[in-house]
Amino acid sequence: MTAEIITIGDELLIGQVADTNSSDIAQKLDRIGISVNQILTIKDEKEPILNAMEQATGRANVVIITGGLGPTKDDVTKYSFCEFFEDTLVNNEKVLHHIEELFKKIKNTPISDLNREQAMVPSRARVLHNKYGTAPGLWMEKKGTVFVALPGVPFEMQMLMNREVIPALKEKFNRPYIYHKTVRTFGLGESAVAQRLEEWEDNLPTHLKLAYLPDLGSVRLRLSGKGENEEELKSLVEEQLDTLYPLIEDIMSNKVQEDDDITVTISKLLLEREQFLAAAESCTGGHLAAQFTTNPGASTCFKGGIVTYATRSKEEILNVPHEIIEEHSVVSSEVAKSMAKNARDLFKADYALATTGNAGPKKGESDAEVGTVYIGVATPQKVYSHKYVFGKTREQVVNKAVNKAFELILQ
Ligand code: ATP
Ligand code: MG
Repeated sequence: MTAEIITIGDELLIGQVADTNSSDIAQKLDRIGISVNQILTIKDEKEPILNAMEQATGRANVVIITGGLGPTKDDVTKYSFCEFFEDTLVNNEKVLHHIEELFKKIKNTPISDLNREQAMVPSRARVLHNKYGTAPGLWMEKKGTVFVALPGVPFEMQMLMNREVIPALKEKFNRPYIYHKTVRTFGLGESAVAQRLEEWEDNLPTHLKLAYLPDLGSVRLRLSGKGENEEELKSLVEEQLDTLYPLIEDIMSNKVQEDDDITVTISKLLLEREQFLAAAESCTGGHLAAQFTTNPGASTCFKGGIVTYATRSKEEILNVPHEIIEEHSVVSSEVAKSMAKNARDLFKADYALATTGNAGPKKGESDAEVGTVYIGVATPQKVYSHKYVFGKTREQVVNKAVNKAFELILQ
């Protein structure tokens, strides 16, 4: 069972809009055992759309297309469908009625000719009704390949995928079962981990696959398999993982498994223990707090963060003693520890993380080499800090520092 995804839109090709639809659709298909073999992004023009559809015919079982279904001149997907399937447009009463109602209720304006045109669909298409927008989705088949066109608006696409497309695909195709399990490692680069696992990987059963997903400062290992029998597949994956764990004992975070983001894992642990985290940031400029608060419900375990970027703010707001800064420099272990300790006190938290460093590209208020970061950790038992050198670009330094800080809190 294979699928291909085609996203249509000039705005995607110039980088104005990031293509989130593809990854979303790929995940949804993967969950029901359909493997995505190709993702393609093309212009809002008939020629490339027809070419892409032609090439996928007979090759993929399903092709999901998003974008270009709207009422404006630049939306040509529907007309491309007509040409490709040698079909003509007919008015669909149900869609027209829905558009009229939508305009009455929400927009309070009479329907325009442009919108009336949206009720015109290829005569042989199965229409996927879009409760939340004016453009319906379309389902048509040619030479064993199902083509589905969905609106580009992510929310509308998601609704149609969940409510119409996935149930219809489940009904139409017999799919194998897919099972993944992910383990996170810290401290070794991708190739070093791969070297260590070479023999283990060579001995994996052929229908299991190991993927390396490197991140700044950590590598996730995803073991996945495909099979007809759900229980058999699960126990096979688990069996293999039992032989993997001893090999990565020293670099594996035993608390971070599954697909959890590291911040989700920390949140769960803090919540379990009814404890709170706080942050005092300098060189990470708020990224640590931002990343932690991407999880809904972070307020149940995150008291807050403070960005004391300038040296004076560390003294005036965070009460880092002037003498410590004078004696040890603002980028130092002593300052990181003082920041962490004071943040823990100020926020009345159980744990606090602090960062002070030089993210580059030039030397800043201290003499510290570019990439140097001290991470301070205050826990109920102790206050300590570690020094790191994280590379040359700001993005690298900031992201690695944030990941490392989260890793420290888990130790
Ligand atoms: P509409 O009725 O809104 O015109 P449409 O099917 O024509 O729907 P597009 O015009 O292609 O869809 O896209 C509508 C909006 O959806 C775009 O402005 C864009 O922000 C967003 N969008 C389109 N494609 C994607 C995508 N692949 N990933 C994320 N967002 C997208
Ligand atoms: Mg449009």
